[in-house]
Amino acid sequence: MASSTAASYWRRYRSIPIVYRIGVAFLLGSLFGLVVGTPATRLQPLGDLFVQLLSMLIIPIIVFTLLMGARRLSPSNLGKLGVQVVGVYMITSALAVAIGLGVGNLINPGTGLELGNAEAQSAEAPDLLEVLLGIVPENPIAAMANGDVLPTIFFVVLFGIALALVEQSTDASDIRAGVETFYDLAEAGAEAMFKIVWGVMEYGVVGVFALMAAVFGEAGVDAIVPFALLILTLALAVAAHIALVHLGGIIVLLVGESPVDFLRGGRDALVTALSIRSSSGTLPVTMSDADENLRIEEEVYSFSLPLGATINMDGTALYQGVAAIFAANLVGVQLGLGEQFTVVAVAVLASVGAAGVPGTGLIMLTLVLTQLGLPLEVVGFVAGVDPLLDRLRTMTNISGDLAVTTLVAKWNDAVDFSGGTWAADGRGEVSVGDD
Ligand code: ASP
Repeated sequence: MASSTAASYWRRYRSIPIVYRIGVAFLLGSLFGLVVGTPATRLQPLGDLFVQLLSMLIIPIIVFTLLMGARRLSPSNLGKLGVQVVGVYMITSALAVAIGLGVGNLINPGTGLELGNAEAQSAEAPDLLEVLLGIVPENPIAAMANGDVLPTIFFVVLFGIALALVEQSTDASDIRAGVETFYDLAEAGAEAMFKIVWGVMEYGVVGVFALMAAVFGEAGVDAIVPFALLILTLALAVAAHIALVHLGGIIVLLVGESPVDFLRGGRDALVTALSIRSSSGTLPVTMSDADENLRIEEEVYSFSLPLGATINMDGTALYQGVAAIFAANLVGVQLGLGEQFTVVAVAVLASVGAAGVPGTGLIMLTLVLTQLGLPLEVVGFVAGVDPLLDRLRTMTNISGDLAVTTLVAKWNDAVDFSGGTWAADGRGEVSVGDD
């Protein structure tokens, strides 16, 4: 009796879309952390487990889906796709910094605050040549084992295209069958990975509660209040960028679809990004949303999403604009137009070389401040609230990756707007528990 009641509660619980359950866990965890304070940080390992479970899936998903995509990718298509994806990624990142600077100039966060004696951590600027050379792995197995996304993409794309060429040119039927087996294995492997993603998301309800409890348990309200204006400025700038560029410009004007359908399609990934503040860690969920909800073909998303998690960071770039204004206000100087252009250039270039992991935006800030001749202490000053700011940045990064991927998929006829969340009645929308 009791067990059947428990089972019916469990079924009811599971029938609620995962994104809402995680959303509630996010809010309750934050509240719990604020009320309980420091002891709540003991929950951190439960949150780390969620992040680790997602990280475990990154390389296998990239390898399987890229091989699937390679079935349909000719070298010339790949070249075209590459130029489109990288080109639009760069444009949206530059717009993001401009919006960050614009909103920063309007609100002027940082005036009236005093820069304490915070320790500055500084970083070396990534050398562009090194970044480019690093795309070619010396040893592909080592690249995969280390979780290096760009070299893994490079090798798997080459391998996938070589398989296709072998299939076209050989007379031996056993080799052709072998190639097909490779593709079939990749397809089955990708499906299996997506199954695991949704299983991991079930655990995410606990994981996200723990992550948020630990963050707020550590920071507490007192630490946050002085930075309220900075947080507000970033939140407004991020909202403006998503609304104007991702939804208005890309989805409505260029793609010609509903922004609500787009957001519904990507919501699991957006909430995950907000919770774990890592574009790379969110990648399995982003790919799953692109595949199952936004109905994008794998030949596009298997390439553009892992690439985007590394080279396209609208939120991170935008933050550089906001933080530059904040830093200038802290020390009481005005940034001229030339200096603001410097911020755009440094932020866009630095976001190409930086990895989509927690805290990247804070490290990048050292480069921007150095370029502007502003004190590096600002980095230490804002480090305490970065775990909050980072969430907004990462969510924006993911929204940008998905919007650009949808656009490029449309240009290449590789998206089905009659299914998934695009369909008027939401038929085909996938959530956990659907089988
Ligand atoms: N955490 C962000 C990401 O993974 C990068 C950042 O720190 O802004 O996308």
